Amino acid sequence: MRRPMVAGNWKMHGTRASVAELTRGLGEMPIPGGIEVAVFPPALFISEVVDGLKGKGIIVGAQNSAVLPEEGALTGEVAPSQLAEVGCKLVLIGHSERRQIIGETEEVLNRKFAAAQKSGLTPVLCVGETLEEREAGKTLEVVGRQLSSVIDAFGIKAFANAVIAYEPVWAIGTGLTASPQQAQDVHAAIRKQLAAQDAEVAGNVQLLYGGSVKAANAAELFGMPDIDGGLIGGASLNADEFGAICRAAGN
Ligand code: PEP
Repeated sequence: MRRPMVAGNWKMHGTRASVAELTRGLGEMPIPGGIEVAVFPPALFISEVVDGLKGKGIIVGAQNSAVLPEEGALTGEVAPSQLAEVGCKLVLIGHSERRQIIGETEEVLNRKFAAAQKSGLTPVLCVGETLEEREAGKTLEVVGRQLSSVIDAFGIKAFANAVIAYEPVWAIGTGLTASPQQAQDVHAAIRKQLAAQDAEVAGNVQLLYGGSVKAANAAELFGMPDIDGGLIGGASLNADEFGAICRAAGN
């Protein structure tokens, strides 16, 4: 049985003071039973957030990790083994900001995916189409290709220890949200693609929706049969709003 997950991607936001305040707020937030809650702080603050949330039942993840699993000579990068050592359990792979702004290719993302799993982290693979691709009727083709890239490289069983986040690029940080039915259609297609190779893996993998989720629209999105929670950007920077989204996943 899949457990809903609500995950907050803090992106490159936060100062020492604001991160401490947000961490305190999250620590006081009641977490509904039966759901998983995760946060992805900027790398610089991960240790502080892990310490601040100790015993609170909130998982901490990283927004990025290196293409190599272990520490070594790779200037500027953080190894998944180092992230695991400080208490990270999850890592985002392939967020559209990294694909588009940093220019991460599928080859690089695949290396990061494999390195993360090798070091015991669970990758959260982000997929999604641009507005241009949606308008050209290419949504399922694009998302299917992003997924196939990982399946072809590592096999379907790689998703026995991974989470997938469908995040239409046009909905990230724009205030535009996919309708529950639009999101459900893509989630169902993702699950079907996985099921064609392994029904058990497809049935167990958590599929999150991301793109301008807030307390006001979360319940409707999370009520769809193939949407197992959300990856939340802007709204995760406010503990009260994030708490309300978590409660929507718990209902
Ligand atoms: C994200 O960056 O993963 C995201 C979903 O952002 P927002 O909720 O702000 O659209």
